[in-house]
Amino acid sequence: MLDGGQGATPCSASGCSADAAHAVHWRNPRIHSADRVKTWAACDEHRDSLAEWLRSRGFPVIVTAFGETVERVA
Ligand SMILES: [Zn+2]
Repeated sequence: MLDGGQGATPCSASGCSADAAHAVHWRNPRIHSADRVKTWAACDEHRDSLAEWLRSRGFPVIVTAFGETVERVA
């Protein structure tokens, strides 16, 4: 994990500059192949709302600690 400061990655939520603590991995099945994974950074506050926004569109979503990677999002 990064130790804060200039190396930290900001949350992907619009208008949020908090440091990301989580990673939201997702895929749009209509345009992405099964082995494609998109990743958003998310702070504590926005982790659930970002994941829910994606799920509401029918996209598969996996939430992990920031810095972890996933092979695929089923
Ligand atoms: Zn945020």
